[in-house]
Amino acid sequence: MYWLDIIIFFAGACWGSFLALVAYRLPKKISVVVPASFCGECNTKIRWYHNLPLFSYFMLKGKCSYCSTKIPFRYWLTEFAVALLFVLAFELLFVDIYTLIRTFLLISVMIPCILIDIEHRIIPDRFSIGLVIAGFILSLIDPMMAWHESAAGIVVGGGMLFVVAELYYRLTGREGLGGGDIKLLAGVGALLGWYPVLIVIFASSILGSVYGIIMMLVYRQGRQTAIPFGPFIGIASILYFFIAEGGFPG
Ligand SMILES: [Zn+2]
Repeated sequence: MYWLDIIIFFAGACWGSFLALVAYRLPKKISVVVPASFCGECNTKIRWYHNLPLFSYFMLKGKCSYCSTKIPFRYWLTEFAVALLFVLAFELLFVDIYTLIRTFLLISVMIPCILIDIEHRIIPDRFSIGLVIAGFILSLIDPMMAWHESAAGIVVGGGMLFVVAELYYRLTGREGLGGGDIKLLAGVGALLGWYPVLIVIFASSILGSVYGIIMMLVYRQGRQTAIPFGPFIGIASILYFFIAEGGFPG
């Protein structure tokens, strides 16, 4: 198991590297297949030995080797996080193939959504709506989850937040939650079911509020400063899934 874990860890790092590339390129409408990796600042093609997941960031001291532009640390963190999640999934969630597919889908949708929402304040439909469709199709073939469970998840995930967002807008005249958040939660519901998505809504609201309060205290920003909600949905749903399915104590 030891060597297998190491191989899976690096497979995860490679996948994390690809997901970071997707998150970088998709909003800029660059193909994720061609061209090969290049520096976003000076457009120089990155040599393969400067493009090794996890290692290169430190070899290059976090800078482009040509123009010395800083490489965002979050890309390294993405590679590490996905590598770790792959090993955890293999060790804890390898109960059946459907659970593994579900884990892989969740990671592959949430990681780019977290990165894109932080940078661009949007959640692309192809991820959120894609998750709704993929989650529902999975429920049609997974014997452990009924299709009506998935359908109820879509309604609860999409509907609950829609009501809250609409109320918030009516009361304050400001948009608190974006449509992207609502569609992403519908996707979480499709994948995990109606009860888990309620927990995810609750947990991500708490995470978001705690983060908002800390930011207010640290930077003394006003209450009106909008923070993207997508990252909290992503973190909460991954945490929930690993804790609930992984059999952690409590
Ligand atoms: Zn450069």
